[in-house]
Amino acid sequence: MADLGSHDAVVVGAGPNGLAAAIVLARAGRSVTVVEAAETIGGGSRSAALTLPGFVHDVCSTVHALVLASPFLRDLPLSEHGLELVHPEIPLAHPLDDGTAVLMRRGVAETGASIGGADARSYRRLMGPLTRSADGLMSELLGPLRPPRHPIAMARFGLVGLRSAEALGRSRFSQVRGRALLGGVAAHSMLRLDQVPSGAVALVLMMAGHEVGWPFARGGSQRVVDALAAYLRSLGGEVVANHRVTTVDELDGARAVVFDVTPRQVLALAGHRLPGRYCRALGRFRYGPGVFKLDWALSGPIPWRAADAGRAGTVHLGGTFEEVAAAEAEVTSGRVPQHPYVLLTQPTPTDPSRAPVGQHVGWAYCHVPPGCTEDMTERIEDQVERFAPGFRDLILARSTMAPAQMEVYNANYVGGDINGGLQDLRQLFTRPVARPVPYTTPDPRLFLCSSSTPPGGGVHGMGGYFAAQAVLRRLARSGG
Ligand SMILES: Cc1cc2nc3c(=O)[nH]c(=O)nc-3n(C[C@H](O)[C@H](O)[C@H](O)COP(=O)(O)OP(=O)(O)OC[C@H]3O[C@@H](n4cnc5c(N)ncnc54)[C@H](O)[C@@H]3O)c2cc1C
Repeated sequence: MADLGSHDAVVVGAGPNGLAAAIVLARAGRSVTVVEAAETIGGGSRSAALTLPGFVHDVCSTVHALVLASPFLRDLPLSEHGLELVHPEIPLAHPLDDGTAVLMRRGVAETGASIGGADARSYRRLMGPLTRSADGLMSELLGPLRPPRHPIAMARFGLVGLRSAEALGRSRFSQVRGRALLGGVAAHSMLRLDQVPSGAVALVLMMAGHEVGWPFARGGSQRVVDALAAYLRSLGGEVVANHRVTTVDELDGARAVVFDVTPRQVLALAGHRLPGRYCRALGRFRYGPGVFKLDWALSGPIPWRAADAGRAGTVHLGGTFEEVAAAEAEVTSGRVPQHPYVLLTQPTPTDPSRAPVGQHVGWAYCHVPPGCTEDMTERIEDQVERFAPGFRDLILARSTMAPAQMEVYNANYVGGDINGGLQDLRQLFTRPVARPVPYTTPDPRLFLCSSSTPPGGGVHGMGGYFAAQAVLRRLARSGG
């Protein structure tokens, strides 16, 4: 066990944000150790043999658009440490009951063509200008509230996108196909689709799809965090797995402690060191809906009625915008949807290394109310069968994870919430507590870097990056 006291900084949690924070600190010449409770590092970016020998499943994150869009991660030499991102031919398909699928392709115009009709032009007019400014916009949006460095692009984004998906869809698309595509992407927000900023979430993810794609990590998402840890070690940083920090008092010798955990655990680990007012504010932090996750070992490729869907990495299942919106509205009102909106990915056509020859893995989840105990297996598989009849016949084995199991797997998934807290307008940029620098706490030694800080959920490392900048400023001010 490493001596945790003798470092400039200790990071609690080896998720993508914790590792990113440690890399920034090590690159600045600071001594840093990352301490991870689980046996394997990676938090929400791990892979495991969840079903049968020879099948590699991504337990949590799987689509790594944000690794490429992240202004911090994209410039790290991760390919030198084993990370290869591989692109499906089509980033996203959204099948419909008529046997066709709307395809989000890399090109804006090609995506418009798949939407078709008058809405093709609307899509180009919506996404064309945003995608041309994507680089600058991503660096603004993947961070805390601050004076914009790309004010014109941000103003345009705000005017177009700062609304609900429902309002955005109504103003831009008159037909089923464009609205369905938008609804499926907006539902990643885990908000009601008539709630702001579900529209902005859709625009950011579609912009990323056009600008950088929606790739997988060859060999599984574990490769992302393994590459981060290898790079960290090459800089002199340490990573210690299998050590759960139970109180911040263990880390008294470190000059700074950075928590890659959510407010509930910050209170448990360090509440006694923090002023009552800040603790009460942390206690008011709101968590979002949970997820029910399924992984399959499959004997063959998924038999989509719309053959094009087989060439897509991600497939959104739920039908029309209205159906997706209804399912998400049920979840946010605490009810379990009969026909859930399902996010499904099929990495093996792009990355055959994850399954025995000719066989495949499938990954899917649906949103459910926090802590929901209902088994969603049948309802999720019904949605797959609806668009891919015969799917069930291919299942060799399956693994399920309900919200409670999610939370046992990773304490950051409170009630199954995979984003480290609700991402509505109030909590998007000011999470977890409204402070000028949300990564700091009233205790000058204690910092937060998890997805409960801006910019929220996803494997982008930006919470870690900004938290580490705050640590470096503090260390410099306190004399060396
Ligand atoms: C089912 C699912 C699907 C997802 N899909 C995607 C996707 O496709 N693309 C994407 O970009 N994102 C996706 N995400 C979200 C993404 O995984 C998270 O947003 C991301 O992992 C957050 O990173 P983090 O570093 O903030 O925290 P985490 O990844 O949660 O890491 C926190 C770490 O801290 C450790 N820890 C907690 N308490 C302690 C303690 N007391 N002592 C020591 N260690 C501790 C935990 O074990 C964990 O390893 C998904 C998440 C889930 C669950």
